[in-house]
Amino acid sequence: MGKVIGIDLGTTNSCVAVLEGEQPVIIANSEGNRTTPSVVAITKSGDRLVGDAAKRQLTVNVDRTISSIKREMGTSYRKKIDGKEYSPEEISAIILSKLKADAEEYLGEPVKDAVITVPAYFNDSQRQATKDAGTIAGLNVLRIINEPTSAALAYGLDNGHSQKILVYDLGGGTFDVSVIEIGDNVIEVLATAGDNHLGGDDFDDRLTEYVIKTFKKEEKVNLEKDIIAVNRIREACENAKKELSYSTNANINLPFITTVKNKPKHLDMSISRSKFDELTADLVDRTAGPVNQALKDSGLSASDIDKVLLVGGSTRIPAVIDKVRRLTGKEVSKKLNPDECVAMGAAIQGGKLGGELMVTNKVNDILLMDVTPLSLSIETVGGVANVIIPRNSAIPTRASKIFTTAGNFQRDVEIKVYQGERKFTRDNKLLGNFRLSGIKRAMAGVPQIEVTFDMDANGILKVSAKDLGRGVSQQIVITSSTNLTEEEIKRAREDAMKYENDVASSKEIQDIRNDAEAYIYKVEKLLEEKSGSLDKKEIKRIRQDVEYLKKLVCRTDANSITEIEAGKIKEAYRDLQESAGKLELI
Ligand code: AMP
Repeated sequence: MGKVIGIDLGTTNSCVAVLEGEQPVIIANSEGNRTTPSVVAITKSGDRLVGDAAKRQLTVNVDRTISSIKREMGTSYRKKIDGKEYSPEEISAIILSKLKADAEEYLGEPVKDAVITVPAYFNDSQRQATKDAGTIAGLNVLRIINEPTSAALAYGLDNGHSQKILVYDLGGGTFDVSVIEIGDNVIEVLATAGDNHLGGDDFDDRLTEYVIKTFKKEEKVNLEKDIIAVNRIREACENAKKELSYSTNANINLPFITTVKNKPKHLDMSISRSKFDELTADLVDRTAGPVNQALKDSGLSASDIDKVLLVGGSTRIPAVIDKVRRLTGKEVSKKLNPDECVAMGAAIQGGKLGGELMVTNKVNDILLMDVTPLSLSIETVGGVANVIIPRNSAIPTRASKIFTTAGNFQRDVEIKVYQGERKFTRDNKLLGNFRLSGIKRAMAGVPQIEVTFDMDANGILKVSAKDLGRGVSQQIVITSSTNLTEEEIKRAREDAMKYENDVASSKEIQDIRNDAEAYIYKVEKLLEEKSGSLDKKEIKRIRQDVEYLKKLVCRTDANSITEIEAGKIKEAYRDLQESAGKLELI
C-alpha cells in the first residue's frame, strides 16, 4: 500500500496531511496555503475552480460558486449550473480531487488511499455521502472518522498517560463537543453532542448584518439586495473577525461598494472587539448546551476533565476561549493548530491502517472508538422500542438479543428497526424493516429468533434476524436515505429527555405483560413434555398459576394496560415463577 493521506473535509476549509516517520505533516496546496477553502466554481467557459481560486472569484460569480456544501451532504440538494445538476457528493469530490492532486504533487507519487473525517454528529447518510465523494474523486476511503476523535488522536500521540479530554470543535459551519477518554492504547469517545448549524459562518453573518444596517442608517442606502456588494461585505467581515482575534479593533474598508445617482459610495467602518462580542454573544452562549449535554451523557462533571482541546478556526475568537474556560474551569490546550489537528489525526489513523506505523509500537495499537449518537432498537409487542445498541455505544459494535413469537404457529415476524430515545417506536424514527419468514411452526413463545445489530466503524448498520430453530435468516443494510437529519437527532435527544419520566412506567408495564406472556407459553410447553416425570400435586398447582396469569394477561390490551392490571400480572407472574421454579422446570 502506498501512502495513506488524512483529509479534514471541512465546511469552510479543508486540510490534508500525511504521516512522515511518526509525525503527521500538513501538505500545503499548490497556492502554498496549509488549508484549502471548501469552495468550488464552474466558470462560464466550463472550467472548474477549486479552493483559493474559487473563493477569490466568489463575489463576481455568485451563481456559479458553491460553498459550505458540507451542510448538504446526505441530502437531495442539487446545484444547477448550465443545465447540469451537481450533487453534494460530486461537489465534495471536486474538493477532494484537488487535495489528492496537491498530496500527489508533494509526495511525488500517486495517492489512492485516504482517511476522511466527518463531524461526530453526521448520520449514516452523511457518512455514506462523504465516502461516495471520496470514491468519485478516485480515492479508496479506508475509514471515515469523527473530527474530535481525530483531533484527540493527534494530541493522544504526545500525551501518553490516561486522561479524560473534552474536545470543543467550533469550525466554519459545525460545532461538536466530545468527551474522550485516552487510555494506554485506547481512545474512547464517551459522549458527543453538538449543533450542525453553528460555526464561524454565523459570526460572519452577524457582522455582515450589522455593517449593512449601519450603512443603511448612515448612508440611506440598502445594500441587502445587491448580491455582489453583500458578498464583498461578507468577505471583509470574515477578515475583520479574524483580525479581532488578535487586536481590539478592525477596519472594514470597501471602496466603490455601490453607486447612487451615478456617484460612487464607499464603505469605511471601524469595528471594536467589544462590538463584535456584543453582536455574537448569543452564538457563543449557544455552545454551552452541547458542552453540558456531552458532560452529562458521559457521566462526568467538568472537574473530572483533565484537558480541554480547542479545534476549528473559530476557537481563535477570544470570547469563545473565555466561554470554554468558564464552562469547564480549565485552561485550554492550544498546542496544536486548531485548523490542522483534525487532518493530522486522520493522517495518523491512515498511517495505522496503511501499515505505516507497524514498526512504531507507540501508536500501532491505538484503538479508536466512536459512538452511536442515538439508540437503535427493534419494535416488540405493544409498540415498545427494545434497544439493541444503546446511545453512545462505542463503534464498531455488535449486539444480539433473542426474541420469540407472540402468536401460536406464527410463521413470520416483521423486524422494524428504529433510531431514537423514546420508549415507544411511534415516537422514534423508522430506519428500515424486513420480514423473516419460514419460522419453525410452534406455540407462541417457543421459537428463538436472534436479532443482531452490526455497526461498522463508519456507522453503517446491518441488521439480521435468524430463527435458531430452522436456521433461516434474513438481513438488511440500513439505506442511507432513511436516516435522521442533524436537526432530527437533536430533537430526538431533547424529546427523549422531556418524556423520559412519563413513559418509563408505561414501558415497564408493557415489559411485564410481554415477559409474563412468554413465560406462560414456556411453562405450558415444558409441562407437556415433562408431565410424566413430575409430581401430580405440583403440576396441578403450576396449572392453576398458569391459568390465573393467562386470564390476567388475556384480559388486558398491550396498548392500554393500566398500572393496576400490571401490578396484578406482576404478582401472579412471581407466583408462577415460584411454583414452576421449584420443579426446576425452567
Ligand atoms: P475550520 O472549519 O476549522 O477551517 O474553521 C473555519 C472558520 O474559522 C471560518 O469561519 C473562519 O472564518 C474561522 N477562523 C479562522 N481563523 C480565525 C481567526 N483567527 N479568528 C476567528 N475566526 C477564525
